[in-house]
Amino acid sequence: MNQNETPEDRAFRAEVRDWLEANLSGEFAHARGLGGPGREHEAFEERLAWERHLAAAGWTCVGWPEEHGGRGASLAQQVIFNEEYALADAPARVGHIGENLLGPTIIAFGTAEQKARFLPPIVAVEELWCQGYSEPDAGSDLANVQTRAELDGGEWRINGQKVWTSLAVEADWCFVVCRTEPGSTRHHGLSYLLVPMRAGARAGTTSPGVDIRPIVQLTGTSEFNEVFFDDARTEAANIVGAPGEGWKIAMATLGFERGVATLGQQVGFRRELEGVIALARRTGAIDDPLLRDRLTRSWAGLEIMRLNATRTMAGVAAGAPGPESSISKLVWGTWHRELGELAMDVLGTAGLVADGEPYDLSDWQRLFLFSRADTIYAGSNEIQRNIIAERVLGLPREARG
Ligand SMILES: Cc1cc2nc3c(=O)[nH]c(=O)nc-3n(C[C@H](O)[C@H](O)[C@H](O)COP(=O)(O)OP(=O)(O)OC[C@H]3O[C@@H](n4cnc5c(N)ncnc54)[C@H](O)[C@@H]3O)c2cc1C
Repeated sequence: MNQNETPEDRAFRAEVRDWLEANLSGEFAHARGLGGPGREHEAFEERLAWERHLAAAGWTCVGWPEEHGGRGASLAQQVIFNEEYALADAPARVGHIGENLLGPTIIAFGTAEQKARFLPPIVAVEELWCQGYSEPDAGSDLANVQTRAELDGGEWRINGQKVWTSLAVEADWCFVVCRTEPGSTRHHGLSYLLVPMRAGARAGTTSPGVDIRPIVQLTGTSEFNEVFFDDARTEAANIVGAPGEGWKIAMATLGFERGVATLGQQVGFRRELEGVIALARRTGAIDDPLLRDRLTRSWAGLEIMRLNATRTMAGVAAGAPGPESSISKLVWGTWHRELGELAMDVLGTAGLVADGEPYDLSDWQRLFLFSRADTIYAGSNEIQRNIIAERVLGLPREARG
């Protein structure tokens, strides 16, 4: 918590804390701690109900301008909200892709009609979104997108395959980067389409031409999916930016993902580190000089991250998130993956076995397995280093084959 908080920010913190304390009770009392990485299927309907409750009280999209249904909260207040949310151990959010990625993109680049159509259901948690960027041959090399779309009778007709699409099974809509200019290559000729994933009801049906296949991850759960578009359709007006401007829009969304979207996560990190230290005391690992050293380094790493986040925030406050957000992504992804490894080493051989029936993974095992993904998604470590090298340090561009 920041000692230099203004009286307004302190009052805002108290308001958030009081509201969460009062509302994570009654029917939502048992919702604390539900969901999270590797546990994304846990109590989905309950978490959806909780998030709609949050929305009804005006606590979704707090950083959005008031004219779009947000609270117009300052960056400092957005951090405060996320910190208090984590401190209260409130359930993992279900609508974060719409709130943190697509919403800010539509606010920045959408038409008045798109803002009126798509923003209110994100605020109210009535429509959930997923991100259709990656393909089998377009991950780090996103400009190699091959999914294509063409206008046909007042609609876009979409064909191709996406992969690693997080939460697609739950999503009502997908923002899809696809090639709309036949014969174009790389980042030219791409467009950013908004594609309906469901025929309407939440009853498991998908729109015609959309096939979603869950992929089982190391944790045994399926956060992400393969998505096949086979003559799937969306209205001609459901394009953000002009045809051919998809790369520019897609990069802006990634800036939101790497920047503001991760504010406040350090409360959760701190709690996990404190948990690992408590575990080390219980197992006796705290007396191992090498593990003590790693615990201390982990604590120092968290402090450095906190200071860096403050600096990044100042940059974000001055405008759109820039390439500096790559530093944050690189630092937190690496730190969190190493924390997972540390938790396993603190557990020792006990980390290799499940406790007993129902032979589910423990929170530490889940942390270890899921955090392997932290240095991959939202741009891998290597890609972040390339961005820092080229756009921050001004080093020569990477040679392309
Ligand atoms: C948990 C999780 C959730 C995800 N959710 C989504 C989602 O919702 N929507 C979506 O579109 N995608 C999603 N992704 C996909 C993610 O964006 C990609 O995995 C990521 O961009 C890497 O692409 P790739 O998997 O194709 O690996 P590749 O690009 O094939 O990379 C393989 C390896 O080569 C390295 N590498 C590649 N290019 C270079 C280079 N130029 N220089 C140096 N090293 C390089 C990479 O760092 C990596 O180590 C998710 C991934 C994960 C793990």
